[in-house]
Amino acid sequence: MPTTENAASAPLPMPEARITSPPGWRDRPGGRREWHEGADLRAAMGTPVLAVRPGVVHDALPETARGIRGYGNLVVLWHPQDGLYTAYAHLSEMLVRRGETLEAATVIAASGVSSGGRHVQMCPHLHFAVRRPRSDGRAPWPGAYPHPERAPWAHRSYWVDPVEYLRGFGLEPASTRGAGELRIRPGSAADAGGGRAHPPRCPTRPQAVLVGAWR
Ligand SMILES: [Zn+2]
Repeated sequence: MPTTENAASAPLPMPEARITSPPGWRDRPGGRREWHEGADLRAAMGTPVLAVRPGVVHDALPETARGIRGYGNLVVLWHPQDGLYTAYAHLSEMLVRRGETLEAATVIAASGVSSGGRHVQMCPHLHFAVRRPRSDGRAPWPGAYPHPERAPWAHRSYWVDPVEYLRGFGLEPASTRGAGELRIRPGSAADAGGGRAHPPRCPTRPQAVLVGAWR
C-alpha cells in the first residue's frame, strides 16, 4: 500500500485533468519552433490547482516578483522524498505561503491567465513544470528557462520532463505523445493519492478570449 509520503495526485481535479500541450518542441504561428519546459493543462478560470505530492511550499511568488516574468503568479513546492521541485504557473489566486507543509492533493491555488503582462492573449491553463536542484545544490527557482539551445546549462542542470514525472506516480496521458486526459494506473501512488475524484470547488468565471498563444 502506498503511504502518505509517496501519495500522488494530478495537478488538477480528475477526471477533467488533461494535458493540452506536452513538454518539448512545438510549432508556433509563423513556422517558428518553440521549446516548452512544462506540461500545459487547460483549465477554466478558478479551477483548483492541487499539490501533486506531499511537500513544502518553497515559494509563492506574485507575478511582479523578479526572475519569474512570464510565469505569472507562481507556486513552487519542494518534495523532500526525492528532492525535486514542482511548479504551478499562471495562477489567478495563491492559497499557500512559503514554508507550509502540504499533503498530496491539497488545493494550493486557482488557475488563471497571469503572466506578468508577457502573454496578454492566453487561454486559461495551468503550466506545470518539474525541476531538480541545480548541480551546486541550490534551488532551481527562480532560474533561467531551461531551454536546450538558449540555456543548455540550465536544461542539463535542472530540467525534468513533467510527463515522465507524472507517469512515475501512475498518471498516464491518454496519448503516447504525452497529451490527453490523465488516467490513473491501478495500484499506483496516484491511485491512493487523493487526486481521483476531487470535485472542483471554485465557481467558473468568464474565460479570456481564446487566441491560441500558450506558454
Ligand atoms: Zn506552458
